[in-house]
Parts: sequence; C-alpha cells; structure tokens
Amino acid sequence: MITFALEHHADAKSWLKAAQKAVAAGIEPDRVEWQVGSQGASLFSASPQDPDRLRGNRSVRFSTALTRLVRQAICHNDPKRLSLLYRLAWRLHHGENGLLQNTVDADVHAVSRMAQATRRDAHKMKAFVRFRAMDNRLISWFEPEHQIVDAVAPFFRNRFANEHWTIFTPSRSATWDRQSLHCAPTGDHVVRPQEDELELYWKKYYASIFNPARLKVPMMRQEMPKKYWKNLPEAELIPELIAGAEKRARSMVKDAVTAPAKKGRTRYVRQTPRAEPSASPLSQLSQQVQACRRCPLWQPATQAVPGEGNPDAAIVILGDQPGDVEDLRGRPFAGPAGDVLRSAMQQSGMAVGSVYMTNSVKHFRFESRGKRRMHKNPSRQHIDACRHWLEHELALVRPELVVTLGRSALFSLTGTTDTLGEIRGSVIRSNSFSVLPTWHPAAILRAPDGERMGSELVSDLQRALTFVRQGLEKDSGAQRSLNP
Ligand code: URA
Repeated sequence: MITFALEHHADAKSWLKAAQKAVAAGIEPDRVEWQVGSQGASLFSASPQDPDRLRGNRSVRFSTALTRLVRQAICHNDPKRLSLLYRLAWRLHHGENGLLQNTVDADVHAVSRMAQATRRDAHKMKAFVRFRAMDNRLISWFEPEHQIVDAVAPFFRNRFANEHWTIFTPSRSATWDRQSLHCAPTGDHVVRPQEDELELYWKKYYASIFNPARLKVPMMRQEMPKKYWKNLPEAELIPELIAGAEKRARSMVKDAVTAPAKKGRTRYVRQTPRAEPSASPLSQLSQQVQACRRCPLWQPATQAVPGEGNPDAAIVILGDQPGDVEDLRGRPFAGPAGDVLRSAMQQSGMAVGSVYMTNSVKHFRFESRGKRRMHKNPSRQHIDACRHWLEHELALVRPELVVTLGRSALFSLTGTTDTLGEIRGSVIRSNSFSVLPTWHPAAILRAPDGERMGSELVSDLQRALTFVRQGLEKDSGAQRSLNP
C-alpha cells in the first residue's frame, strides 16, 4: 500500500500532483491510500510517500475537465471522495476516454453528485457571507456543508480586495490582509462577530427590496434556507415581512405605480401628455425624454426617468441610471439608494428641495433573472446617447456645481475614468460649472465598509455646500439657489 498525504481536506493541489505521479508510475487504485493532515495516522501507519520519488516512465497530465471535477468534488465531506477520484483518473488513463460523459457509470455519477453539492454550497456561501466590522478588520462566521473555504476564498479576495477580512467556518478560516490570502484550520482562533452598524444597512436594504406581491414562501425558503438565517442580519425581518406581506401587497395595488413591461407581450409605453404651452422648459424636456429612442434601453424599460427638483438649483446631483423602483415610479432616487442619499443630505445640511436630481442615463438597464430585474451598468453607448438630455437639463438649470455619484456619472460628465477612491471629494473646476465626484449611495449599501463610505458621502456633500456658498457670496448678483 502506498500512502499519500494531503495538508487539509480539500488540498486539491497535493492530490493532483500525487495522483498524476501515481498514475504515471502504474500504481493501481487498490494500492493507494490517502491521509489528510495527521488525521488517521498512528504509530503503526506507513509514512507518506513523496510523489516526486515515484518512478514512472511517462508523465501524465490530467485533462481540464477532470481537474475541474477534482477541485470541486474534493471539497465534499464524503471520506470516499479521494479514492473515488483516483479510480476515475486511473480508468480515464487506461483507455476509457469518454468516461466522464457516461453519466450512468457509478463512479462518474457519484463524483458528479459530489461536485454538484459543493458548487451549490459555494454559491450559498457567496450569497450569504455577511461581514461585520471588528478590530480594524471585517469578520464573518459561516457554516458551509462541505469544506469549501479554500475554494471560495479567492472570490472574496477579488470582491473585497481593499479590505482586511477573515471568514471563519467551524473547520477552516480564510484571511485576506490586502496582500496575501491565507487559509488555515480555525482552531481556537475563532472570533464571533457581534452585531454592528453595517447590519442596519443590510436590514434597511433587504426591507426595501422585499416585494410582498412577489412573495412565494416555499421558493424563498429554497433560495435562502433557514439554516443560514442565524448569521444573516436581515433574516430577523423575514417573519415580520411575511406576516405583513398580504397587507402591503394590497396597499401596493392601491397606490399602484406603472406596471413593468412584460417580455413577449405588447409593451406598455407610458402615455405622454402633450406639453402645455405654458409648461416650463424643464417639464417640456421631461416629456420629450419619454419619447427618446436614441438607444435600445427604452424597449424593456417601463418608462424614462427624467430629472426633477429645484429648477434654479445651484447644485445638481447626478446618478448613473434609474433602478428598479425608479423605473416603476418614474422618479429619480425613489428606491433604497435614494434613501441613503437623502439621509446623507440631511446629515450634511443640504436641503433635499434645494437641489436638482437626475441621472446620466434616463432608462433602467437590467438583466432578467427569473422574475427579478438585476441592475446592469450602462454601457458607453448608452451614456453617449443620453448625454444629449443631460446637456439640455444642465443648460436649463445652470448649476454652479454638479455632484456626481459613482463612476458612470463622473465619466458621462467629464470623460474621467480615474479611481473614485482617489479623486472623490475634490472639486474639478470648469467654466460653466464645477464637478465634485463622490460615492454612489448604492455602492454604500453593498460595500462591507459602507459606514465609512457613508460618512465620506456626508462630508463630500458638506464640501459641496461650502464650495457653492463661497461662490455665491463672491457673486452676489447670481440667481442660483441653495434654498428649497
Ligand atoms: N441610482 C441612481 O444612480 N439613480 C437613481 O435614480 C436611483 C439609483
């Protein structure tokens, strides 16, 4: 018997190396045994074999399909996975070329089921890990069904590259310190996260995206199984939201907003009343925007969402595009991002009624996933096509300063693709109006360090007010307004 050692349960790298060498050396499946860490080793066990010392007269490289299957199935909790995978590799390299396509083969079937289970588990982990800020880093506690932490950690590294974080699970934990990713046994080092202010964002966000009219309890339980609830801050709202769903759905029907367009049916296009001769230039412009066909985004959208607010505003707030709620209501910043924005404005002393709010792109761009409409960033083509309307709005409002929220808004106005983190809060001056870039409130809702970004948004808005006040004092004849 030959024993190979793996560092940990899902150590695909060592398994692949040992298995490739063992197949090349002609070691049959019933002569191979696997040892994970020190588990199973005793005084009497054979010392593990160094794969580099095996003699083989040819070298073997596993196919991409087999390697992918190994990386997924090895995370499964079944102790038989390692020998099963080796038997599969052996058979593939001994003449059974199309083996992986033979789904009724018992080995292929068993390994495919394992891979499928760990993929599902990884998907849940990506969706349900919630970070809390603690001791200058972000902490999360998650209980996966299989040993998937090492495999999923790179996803979180890419997503939260600028943060120092640790994800603890009962057996292993993953830490990213902004430079290197490190996975290790959890042991006694576990830090249980406490409730923090980030949770308020999650709860507020979840409550605002919860659509009582679309509630299907069994489906919801399947997508968000109860076993994950205990680590999800928003989950404590679920029973209350379900209980109140019927009432909320009834009141939604009562206060109905425009219905979204349905695929494959006659599109609903909002009937735009003809502009009254006395209508203001901005409201005439809004009506023209409704008939816009400058890019294809009008087709799946419910309606265009023109800007609104104080026509004499000294400050224009510019977002990227309307979201799901805005598309239905026909008003900018009517959804969760708007709540964050208005709360930041209030904290900064900027009166909501004093500004004019609009978006670079006037139609909602989304991707349908089942019944959900997922936000998709506008492309350059959409931004370029819609600049026509933005320029008209700005020419009519004539602001002193435009506060751009997020990268697309900044790009549409200035062509700048600079990193927002580096230039936010600084004033870019130009002859007609100046520009102050800051965070997008939707990014604040999503980011694990939303609290910090939220206070930066408040201080950027304060800076905007100071900048405009100073300009207005110098130019006392100006008609611009900071009052609602
Ligand atoms: N995000 C935006 O940029 N604009 C909106 O109107 C809503 C969300």
